[in-house]
Amino acid sequence: MADRILELSGVDIRYGLFQAVFGVDLSVERGEAVAIIGANGAGKSTLLNAIAGLVPVHQGSITYQGQPLDGVPAHKRVGMGIALVPEGRRIFASLTVEENLLIGAHSGRPGPWDVGKVLDTFPLLQRLMKRQTAGLSGGERQALAIGRGLMSNPDLILLDEVSLGLAPIVVKQVYEAIPAIRSQGTTVLVVEQDVNQALAVADRFSCLLEGRVSLSGDTTNVDHARITEAYFGLTAAHGGPGSDTGSGEGAA
Ligand code: ATP
Repeated sequence: MADRILELSGVDIRYGLFQAVFGVDLSVERGEAVAIIGANGAGKSTLLNAIAGLVPVHQGSITYQGQPLDGVPAHKRVGMGIALVPEGRRIFASLTVEENLLIGAHSGRPGPWDVGKVLDTFPLLQRLMKRQTAGLSGGERQALAIGRGLMSNPDLILLDEVSLGLAPIVVKQVYEAIPAIRSQGTTVLVVEQDVNQALAVADRFSCLLEGRVSLSGDTTNVDHARITEAYFGLTAAHGGPGSDTGSGEGAA
Protein backbone atom coordinates (compact mmCIF):
# COMPACT_ATOMS: atom_id res chain seq x y z
CA MET A 1 0.00 0.00 0.00
CA ALA A 2 1.16 3.52 -0.75
CA ASP A 3 2.71 5.55 2.04
CA ARG A 4 0.30 8.39 2.69
CA ILE A 5 1.93 11.46 4.19
CA LEU A 6 -1.09 13.77 4.21
CA GLU A 7 -4.81 13.25 4.18
CA LEU A 8 -7.54 15.87 4.28
CA SER A 9 -11.03 14.59 4.81
CA GLY A 10 -14.15 16.72 4.51
CA VAL A 11 -12.31 19.92 5.44
CA ASP A 12 -14.40 23.06 5.97
CA ILE A 13 -12.65 26.34 6.81
CA ARG A 14 -14.30 29.55 7.89
CA TYR A 15 -13.21 33.10 8.49
CA GLY A 16 -15.87 34.15 10.97
CA LEU A 17 -19.19 33.67 9.21
CA PHE A 18 -17.58 33.45 5.78
CA GLN A 19 -16.88 29.91 4.61
CA ALA A 20 -13.84 29.73 2.32
CA VAL A 21 -13.38 25.95 1.97
CA PHE A 22 -16.11 23.30 1.70
CA GLY A 23 -15.65 19.58 2.33
CA VAL A 24 -12.23 19.24 0.73
CA ASP A 25 -10.71 15.76 0.44
CA LEU A 26 -7.07 15.49 -0.59
CA SER A 27 -4.43 12.82 -0.18
CA VAL A 28 -0.71 13.06 -0.82
CA GLU A 29 1.64 10.08 -0.93
CA ARG A 30 5.19 10.33 0.34
CA GLY A 31 7.57 11.52 -2.39
CA GLU A 32 4.84 12.91 -4.65
CA ALA A 33 4.46 16.41 -6.01
CA VAL A 34 0.83 17.49 -5.92
CA ALA A 35 -0.52 20.81 -7.18
CA ILE A 36 -3.56 22.68 -5.94
CA ILE A 37 -4.75 24.91 -8.75
CA GLY A 38 -7.56 27.41 -8.97
CA ALA A 39 -8.39 31.04 -9.64
CA ASN A 40 -7.99 34.01 -7.30
CA GLY A 41 -9.93 33.50 -4.10
CA ALA A 42 -10.64 29.79 -4.73
CA GLY A 43 -9.30 28.90 -1.28
CA LYS A 44 -5.85 27.54 -2.19
CA SER A 45 -3.83 29.57 0.32
CA THR A 46 -6.44 28.98 2.98
CA LEU A 47 -6.03 25.24 2.56
CA LEU A 48 -2.24 25.41 2.70
CA ASN A 49 -2.36 27.66 5.77
CA ALA A 50 -4.68 25.18 7.47
CA ILE A 51 -2.23 22.33 6.84
CA ALA A 52 0.53 24.50 8.32
CA GLY A 53 -1.66 25.28 11.35
CA LEU A 54 -2.10 29.00 10.69
CA VAL A 55 -5.84 28.77 10.06
CA PRO A 56 -8.17 26.49 12.07
CA VAL A 57 -10.22 23.74 10.47
CA HIS A 58 -13.91 24.24 11.22
CA GLN A 59 -14.96 20.71 10.36
CA GLY A 60 -13.27 17.61 8.94
CA SER A 61 -9.74 16.42 9.60
CA ILE A 62 -6.15 16.79 8.50
CA THR A 63 -3.96 13.76 9.16
CA TYR A 64 -0.19 13.90 8.73
CA GLN A 65 1.92 10.74 8.81
CA GLY A 66 -1.05 8.98 10.39
CA GLN A 67 -1.48 11.56 13.15
CA PRO A 68 -4.46 13.93 13.37
CA LEU A 69 -3.28 17.54 13.42
CA ASP A 70 -6.29 18.93 15.34
CA GLY A 71 -5.04 21.36 17.94
CA VAL A 72 -1.37 20.99 16.97
CA PRO A 73 0.09 24.52 16.82
CA ALA A 74 2.00 25.72 13.77
CA HIS A 75 5.45 25.64 15.37
CA LYS A 76 4.95 22.02 16.44
CA ARG A 77 3.99 21.15 12.86
CA VAL A 78 7.35 22.55 11.70
CA GLY A 79 8.98 20.22 14.21
CA MET A 80 6.94 17.35 12.77
CA GLY A 81 8.33 18.11 9.31
CA ILE A 82 5.80 20.44 7.69
CA ALA A 83 7.31 23.61 6.19
CA LEU A 84 5.22 26.40 4.67
CA VAL A 85 6.73 28.79 2.14
CA PRO A 86 4.03 31.46 2.26
CA GLU A 87 2.79 33.60 -0.58
CA GLY A 88 4.66 36.89 -0.85
CA ARG A 89 8.19 35.62 -0.14
CA ARG A 90 8.20 36.79 3.43
CA ILE A 91 11.79 36.98 4.55
CA PHE A 92 13.51 39.03 7.25
CA ALA A 93 14.57 42.27 5.59
CA SER A 94 17.03 43.31 8.29
CA LEU A 95 18.97 40.06 8.10
CA THR A 96 21.43 38.75 5.54
CA VAL A 97 20.62 35.89 3.20
CA GLU A 98 22.78 33.59 5.30
CA GLU A 99 21.03 34.62 8.52
CA ASN A 100 17.64 34.05 6.92
CA LEU A 101 18.70 30.54 5.95
CA LEU A 102 20.06 29.77 9.41
CA ILE A 103 16.80 30.88 11.03
CA GLY A 104 15.09 28.22 8.96
CA ALA A 105 17.10 25.57 10.81
CA HIS A 106 15.87 26.56 14.26
CA SER A 107 13.61 23.53 14.60
CA GLY A 108 16.79 21.43 14.72
CA ARG A 109 15.29 18.58 12.72
CA PRO A 110 17.98 16.30 11.37
CA GLY A 111 18.03 15.59 7.63
CA PRO A 112 19.77 16.18 4.34
CA TRP A 113 19.22 19.93 4.09
CA ASP A 114 21.88 22.37 5.22
CA VAL A 115 23.28 25.62 3.83
CA GLY A 116 25.51 23.75 1.37
CA LYS A 117 22.65 21.69 -0.04
CA VAL A 118 20.44 24.78 -0.38
CA LEU A 119 23.22 26.55 -2.30
CA ASP A 120 23.63 23.51 -4.55
CA THR A 121 19.92 23.72 -5.29
CA PHE A 122 19.81 27.52 -5.67
CA PRO A 123 23.30 28.54 -6.89
CA LEU A 124 22.08 32.11 -7.41
CA LEU A 125 22.12 32.56 -3.61
CA GLN A 126 25.84 31.76 -3.34
CA ARG A 127 27.16 35.25 -4.08
CA LEU A 128 24.43 36.88 -1.99
CA MET A 129 25.07 35.15 1.33
CA LYS A 130 26.42 38.22 3.15
CA ARG A 131 23.95 40.62 1.56
CA GLN A 132 20.93 42.02 3.35
CA THR A 133 17.76 40.90 1.69
CA ALA A 134 16.29 44.34 1.01
CA GLY A 135 17.85 44.68 -2.45
CA LEU A 136 17.14 41.17 -3.70
CA SER A 137 15.15 40.55 -6.86
CA GLY A 138 11.84 38.70 -6.73
CA GLY A 139 13.45 35.49 -7.93
CA GLU A 140 16.24 35.74 -5.38
CA ARG A 141 13.74 36.35 -2.60
CA GLN A 142 11.69 33.36 -3.71
CA ALA A 143 14.76 31.11 -3.84
CA LEU A 144 15.67 32.30 -0.36
CA ALA A 145 12.16 31.72 0.98
CA ILE A 146 12.15 28.16 -0.36
CA GLY A 147 15.71 27.60 0.88
CA ARG A 148 14.74 28.77 4.33
CA GLY A 149 11.82 26.32 4.32
CA LEU A 150 14.14 23.50 3.30
CA MET A 151 16.52 24.33 6.16
CA SER A 152 13.88 22.94 8.55
CA ASN A 153 14.42 19.56 6.87
CA PRO A 154 10.75 19.06 6.09
CA ASP A 155 9.16 15.79 5.05
CA LEU A 156 6.45 17.90 3.41
CA ILE A 157 7.02 21.36 1.94
CA LEU A 158 4.05 23.58 1.12
CA LEU A 159 4.81 26.11 -1.61
CA ASP A 160 2.29 28.93 -2.01
CA GLU A 161 2.21 30.70 -5.38
CA VAL A 162 5.94 30.65 -5.95
CA SER A 163 5.56 31.98 -9.48
CA LEU A 164 3.37 34.97 -8.65
CA GLY A 165 4.78 38.20 -10.09
CA LEU A 166 7.99 36.61 -11.38
CA ALA A 167 9.24 36.79 -14.97
CA PRO A 168 8.75 33.49 -16.84
CA ILE A 169 12.50 32.83 -16.98
CA VAL A 170 12.76 33.25 -13.21
CA VAL A 171 9.74 31.04 -12.65
CA LYS A 172 11.51 28.39 -14.70
CA GLN A 173 14.63 28.66 -12.52
CA VAL A 174 12.62 28.38 -9.32
CA TYR A 175 10.64 25.39 -10.55
CA GLU A 176 13.80 23.66 -11.76
CA ALA A 177 14.64 23.18 -8.08
CA ILE A 178 11.63 20.94 -7.46
CA PRO A 179 13.21 17.69 -8.75
CA ALA A 180 16.23 18.33 -6.50
CA ILE A 181 13.89 18.87 -3.55
CA ARG A 182 12.06 15.64 -4.28
CA SER A 183 15.31 13.75 -4.74
CA GLN A 184 16.03 14.39 -1.06
CA GLY A 185 12.81 12.58 -0.18
CA THR A 186 10.78 15.73 0.47
CA THR A 187 7.15 15.63 -0.60
CA VAL A 188 5.92 18.77 -2.36
CA LEU A 189 2.45 20.31 -2.21
CA VAL A 190 2.32 23.39 -4.40
CA VAL A 191 -0.39 25.99 -4.80
CA GLU A 192 -0.32 27.57 -8.22
CA GLN A 193 -2.54 29.80 -10.36
CA ASP A 194 -0.44 29.04 -13.43
CA VAL A 195 -1.97 25.81 -14.62
CA ASN A 196 0.67 24.91 -17.19
CA GLN A 197 3.37 25.35 -14.58
CA ALA A 198 1.47 23.27 -12.05
CA LEU A 199 0.81 20.46 -14.49
CA ALA A 200 4.47 20.42 -15.55
CA VAL A 201 5.80 20.06 -12.03
CA ALA A 202 3.24 17.83 -10.31
CA ASP A 203 2.24 14.18 -10.53
CA ARG A 204 -1.34 14.93 -9.56
CA PHE A 205 -3.52 17.98 -9.19
CA SER A 206 -6.66 19.13 -7.44
CA CYS A 207 -8.55 22.12 -8.79
CA LEU A 208 -10.48 24.34 -6.39
CA LEU A 209 -13.46 26.38 -7.48
CA GLU A 210 -15.04 28.65 -4.87
CA GLY A 211 -13.70 26.52 -2.04
CA ARG A 212 -14.67 23.12 -3.43
CA VAL A 213 -12.65 20.52 -5.31
CA SER A 214 -13.99 20.80 -8.85
CA LEU A 215 -11.61 18.32 -10.49
CA SER A 216 -8.65 16.19 -9.50
CA GLY A 217 -6.47 13.65 -11.25
CA ASP A 218 -3.12 12.77 -12.76
CA THR A 219 -1.21 15.43 -14.64
CA THR A 220 -0.45 13.04 -17.49
CA ASN A 221 -2.92 13.13 -20.36
CA VAL A 222 -5.05 15.86 -18.80
CA ASP A 223 -8.14 17.05 -20.57
CA HIS A 224 -7.54 20.79 -20.86
CA ALA A 225 -11.17 21.56 -21.60
CA ARG A 226 -12.22 19.87 -18.36
CA ILE A 227 -9.58 21.79 -16.44
CA THR A 228 -10.83 25.05 -17.88
CA GLU A 229 -14.33 24.20 -16.79
CA ALA A 230 -13.17 23.17 -13.33
CA TYR A 231 -10.98 26.27 -12.95
CA PHE A 232 -13.52 28.89 -13.94
CA GLY A 233 -16.77 27.00 -13.68
CA LEU A 234 -17.23 27.79 -17.36
CA THR A 235 -17.60 25.60 -20.39
CA ALA A 236 -14.54 24.93 -22.53
CA ALA A 237 -15.87 27.23 -25.26
CA HIS A 238 -14.81 30.22 -23.17
CA GLY A 239 -11.13 29.25 -23.39
CA GLY A 240 -8.90 29.50 -20.35
CA PRO A 241 -5.96 27.93 -18.56
CA GLY A 242 -4.25 25.17 -20.46
CA SER A 243 -6.11 26.01 -23.66
CA ASP A 244 -2.88 27.61 -24.86
CA THR A 245 -0.29 24.88 -25.01
CA GLY A 246 3.07 25.50 -23.48
CA SER A 247 3.17 29.27 -23.16
CA GLY A 248 3.98 28.76 -19.51
CA GLU A 249 1.95 31.80 -18.60
CA GLY A 250 -1.12 29.94 -17.46
CA ALA A 251 -4.17 31.68 -16.20
CA ALA A 252 -3.00 34.50 -14.00
P1 ATP B 1 -5.21 33.92 -4.17
O1 ATP B 1 -4.55 33.26 -5.29
O2 ATP B 1 -5.84 35.22 -4.54
O3 ATP B 1 -4.40 33.98 -2.90
P2 ATP B 1 -6.60 31.68 -3.05
O4 ATP B 1 -7.18 30.61 -3.89
O5 ATP B 1 -5.33 31.37 -2.35
O6 ATP B 1 -6.48 32.99 -3.88
P3 ATP B 1 -7.57 32.37 -0.47
O7 ATP B 1 -6.55 33.42 -0.25
O8 ATP B 1 -7.44 31.10 0.26
O9 ATP B 1 -7.71 32.06 -2.01
O10 ATP B 1 -8.99 33.01 -0.16
C1 ATP B 1 -10.19 32.24 -0.20
C2 ATP B 1 -11.34 33.14 0.24
O11 ATP B 1 -11.19 33.44 1.62
C3 ATP B 1 -11.39 34.46 -0.49
O12 ATP B 1 -12.74 34.80 -0.68
C4 ATP B 1 -10.74 35.42 0.47
O13 ATP B 1 -11.24 36.73 0.31
C5 ATP B 1 -11.13 34.85 1.81
N1 ATP B 1 -10.14 35.10 2.84
C6 ATP B 1 -8.83 34.79 2.80
N2 ATP B 1 -8.21 35.17 3.92
C7 ATP B 1 -9.15 35.74 4.72
C8 ATP B 1 -9.15 36.34 6.02
N3 ATP B 1 -8.03 36.41 6.74
N4 ATP B 1 -10.31 36.82 6.48
C9 ATP B 1 -11.45 36.75 5.76
N5 ATP B 1 -11.53 36.20 4.54
C10 ATP B 1 -10.39 35.71 4.01
